[in-house]
Amino acid sequence: MKRVLITGAAGFLGSHLCDRFIKEGYHVIAMDNLITGDLANIEHLFPLENFEFHNHDVSNFVHVSGKLDYIMHFASPASPIDYLKIPIQTLKVGSLGIHNLLGLAKEKGARVLIASTSEVYGDPLVHPQTEDYFGNVNPIGPRGVYDEAKRFQEAITMAYHTYHNVETRIVRIFNTYGPRMRLNDGRVVPAFIGQALRGEDLTIFGDGSQTRSFCYVDDLIEGIYRLLHSDYIYPVNIGNPNEITISDFAEEIIKLTGTDQKVIYKDLPVNDPLQRQPNIDKAISLLDWTPKVGRAEGMKITYEYFKNLPKEELVKMPKEF
Ligand code: UDP
Repeated sequence: MKRVLITGAAGFLGSHLCDRFIKEGYHVIAMDNLITGDLANIEHLFPLENFEFHNHDVSNFVHVSGKLDYIMHFASPASPIDYLKIPIQTLKVGSLGIHNLLGLAKEKGARVLIASTSEVYGDPLVHPQTEDYFGNVNPIGPRGVYDEAKRFQEAITMAYHTYHNVETRIVRIFNTYGPRMRLNDGRVVPAFIGQALRGEDLTIFGDGSQTRSFCYVDDLIEGIYRLLHSDYIYPVNIGNPNEITISDFAEEIIKLTGTDQKVIYKDLPVNDPLQRQPNIDKAISLLDWTPKVGRAEGMKITYEYFKNLPKEELVKMPKEF
């Protein structure tokens, strides 16, 4: 049986990866320090024999006994309000964390896939973003702690590949949504749906002309699974190229939820990217992958998930660390 270590396993993407690898017949070693993750996302896997959970911060030395075939590094705060509150942990998990995991991979002969991000492109001057674009990141701005950690993570991963022959894969993940996002994580999908469910006005940051391209989580997981098993070592964008302004997106959420609330405008966060759309030519040609779930369908599933959460989830304040 193949054995995979998944870091950030109790988080949004990590928990979906756990499900996928379990479905494929793997033994899953799930690791999370639960700083932003939630055991509720993986508790359904606890009774399984081929699933184990370790409460551990991968920024500290990581030990796994027995053989290990794959390491998926998905541990990191991922929403702007989280990584602004815990900037040092964000930097550490993207640097010390991946260093520990690459060392483990070298020791075990495991293949490592790292979760990189469209944030490596910063506020992009090339649109749509292709993998060969070097990006436009402000290293000392508030988002720098996340963006630069992820950029360092790519650099050290390539270095371990080049100098230690570790097998590595790099996925650059664009905005992804779906069940198990934290309702209070501050990102636009849970923020708007949470506001609609609470009967609050929807907060648009800036004038709402900034764009994002939203990918449904199942599509993303499929792309990542294919990339892991491909032989391509350079970064690959995975995302849905269907781009929309945040204003239009707010209108879609108002229609979807049937709320009679309005939109209100707040300041645009510093260095908030003005446009974002993945060029997915590489994913198409190398992985034969394209997203299958449109925004209308994916948002409907996501809305149902949030609507059915226990009422107390709805009023939970953003997490304090
Ligand atoms: N945004 C917004 N209102 C909110 C939360 C976010 O208008 O209540 C905007 C945010 O400024 C950004 C976009 O929505 O332009 C996507 O934000 P998110 O935090 O989801 O992701 P990221 O900026 O990392 O793409």
